[in-house]
Amino acid sequence: MNGKQGLGEKVAVEKRGSERQGTGLVFVISAPSGTGKTTLLRKVMEALPDLRFSISYTTRSPRANEKEGEDYHFIPCDRFQEMVERGEFLEWAEVVGNRYGTAKATIEGLTSEGFDLLLDVDTQGAKKVKEKLGHSILIFILPPSYETLRKRLITRGLDSPEIIRSRLASARTEIEEAYRYHYVIVNERVEEAAEELKAIIIAERCRRNKDRVLAESNREWEEEYGKNNGGRLLEDGGEPV
Ligand code: 5GP
Repeated sequence: MNGKQGLGEKVAVEKRGSERQGTGLVFVISAPSGTGKTTLLRKVMEALPDLRFSISYTTRSPRANEKEGEDYHFIPCDRFQEMVERGEFLEWAEVVGNRYGTAKATIEGLTSEGFDLLLDVDTQGAKKVKEKLGHSILIFILPPSYETLRKRLITRGLDSPEIIRSRLASARTEIEEAYRYHYVIVNERVEEAAEELKAIIIAERCRRNKDRVLAESNREWEEEYGKNNGGRLLEDGGEPV
């Protein structure tokens, strides 16, 4: 089963929330292939409203169960090159022989509508997003161990032994990049990892909302405090009016 299924479906489901306003947050998630990132992201998307998945463009062919416009936009190499030349990508990279890119239009469209975005990109992509969108939040998902990752790659049965070897080699290099990220989550048990990821997203939302919440609270205080003559006590010593 393709773990990314459902992410695209979720994107299509519009959520109209009164709390959704201003510019959305950008969460950049990287993980070595086989870490279980897709299942994790799906769980978090189901649990948190106003979160959207940024659908990348790729020159890779779709795997069984992957759908155009849900998992990726699958495009030929020449179309990808045209997009590169027209400057349509916020970032793009070559990963294990294929090219992958995040379109500027996807990010600008969804964040300006106030949606918080999850970007599933490799470590090269994360570095570029961080340079271009300084406010982005970088989260690295670690496999519990080398052996677990090796077994997961074999049992999911998607890749040839040669590709598995190359994925394990890239995993090693990617993990070395993890220290650049703001957060690291070990995906040993997906339920726990999902709780941690949700907690990070909720905490970052609270941080983003701080100024707005304080401004609203101050406005209310001013109004009530004014009406209440600064909390003057009643002449008979009762509660403030
Ligand atoms: P897969 O082919 O297994 O779906 O993805 C391979 C790698 O490409 C993963 O590490 C994934 O995070 C990365 N990737 C997917 N989309 C993008 C993208 O838009 N930009 C970059 N830089 N990497 C991506």
